[in-house]
Amino acid sequence: MQNNWKPETLAVQAGYTPGNGEARVLPLWQSTTFKYDDVQSVADLFDLKREGFFYSRLANPTVDCLERKITALEGGVAAVATSAGQTANAMALMNLASAGDHVLAATSLYGGTVTLFTHTLRRAGIQIDFIAPDADEAAIEAAIKPNTKAVFAETLANPALVVLDIERFARAAHKFGIPLIVDNTFPTPILCRPFDFGADIVTHSTTKYIDGHATSVGGIVVEKGGFDWKASGRFPGFTEPDDSYHGLIYTESFAAMPFSVKLRVQLIRDYGVPQSPFNALMTNFGCETLAIRMERHCTNALALAEFLQQHPCVSWVNYPGLPGDSQYELAQKYMPRGASGVLCFGVKGGRQAGEIVMNALRLAAIVVHVADLRTGVLHPASMTHRQLSDEEQLAAGVSPDLIRVSVGIEHIDDIIADFDQALKKTL
Ligand SMILES: *Cc1c(COP(=O)(O)O)cnc(C)c1O
Repeated sequence: MQNNWKPETLAVQAGYTPGNGEARVLPLWQSTTFKYDDVQSVADLFDLKREGFFYSRLANPTVDCLERKITALEGGVAAVATSAGQTANAMALMNLASAGDHVLAATSLYGGTVTLFTHTLRRAGIQIDFIAPDADEAAIEAAIKPNTKAVFAETLANPALVVLDIERFARAAHKFGIPLIVDNTFPTPILCRPFDFGADIVTHSTTKYIDGHATSVGGIVVEKGGFDWKASGRFPGFTEPDDSYHGLIYTESFAAMPFSVKLRVQLIRDYGVPQSPFNALMTNFGCETLAIRMERHCTNALALAEFLQQHPCVSWVNYPGLPGDSQYELAQKYMPRGASGVLCFGVKGGRQAGEIVMNALRLAAIVVHVADLRTGVLHPASMTHRQLSDEEQLAAGVSPDLIRVSVGIEHIDDIIADFDQALKKTL
């Protein structure tokens, strides 16, 4: 693999390189275990003295190829695939923070992440404070505490469609020796590579665009490499001996990728949350066409946003790629190739009119999913975000009339015609 290849090429070619006479297409290693000729080989694997596979809860060759592909696309040093996007975010944080620690997160987040942070991780003793994504650097710095272990945000928030000023958050976090974790699910590495702007860890729900066909739930955590865990002084778990691995010191034995090795051998091992080989296979197939799909998602979403904006039945449209949108400048900076395939709008007549439109759509299906190649719609207030209080919903950017459209890759004329006929039902 050549590391100067462009994303379009990496999406197709990276991760799996067959040898002479081997399968052209990534094979499925649907095997829990791997055979060795002698005891010492396996002992060395357990001691992390040599690389290899022995049990698919820790690592598997099919999953490994997907991890290498996403690592190449994001421009990082290593990645660990997980059972879901939720697990990617949970494990990324738990790799840095434990009971008694603090994490600072942007308010505009995916509903499942809000629940994870405000309930499950809090019950585990990790305190999470929220900060507005448009907070200035001084406000971010003021919210950081002596026990803060991570700053967390989404590149393009689901569903608020707020674009993160990655450089601003990275600068504030780095001043205190704290890594910035960015959930890059919506832009994908085709539209934005957060590492280029200072993020240290990137997470994905691969369930979304990376799979793109809505077949497989999965997640991934990618490490940029080069974060100075020692200088930070906040991470003894990285710089002091790990008793569960005979005193291994991650920053010494795995200096190039201590975050990923620790995540895999502590958390994936102990909680048992790897991505399944079959899901990795499906996700890899989807990822091969990621670059061309993202192009079409972006052009279709912009065209639908422009159509809705001038429609007499529509009260407002949010799409960061739309000139005049509050997020337009940030989107131009961080995702100049396009602002992804998700837009939100409100129908004149509010929530009830919105329901009429959703029920009247034919091509666009009502699905609790986003970012696949078929156009789908969702009403977050009554679906994905219904476990949140009204205040939490508003903080996450969800108004009662908001309809989220995941614009697919069908012909734009058919998508527009479908929304037009459905909107006219409200007249
Ligand atoms: C869907 C989603 C998640 C959760 O991913 P799952 O694969 O459903 O567990 C996390 N972050 C964002 C931005 C998402 O859209």
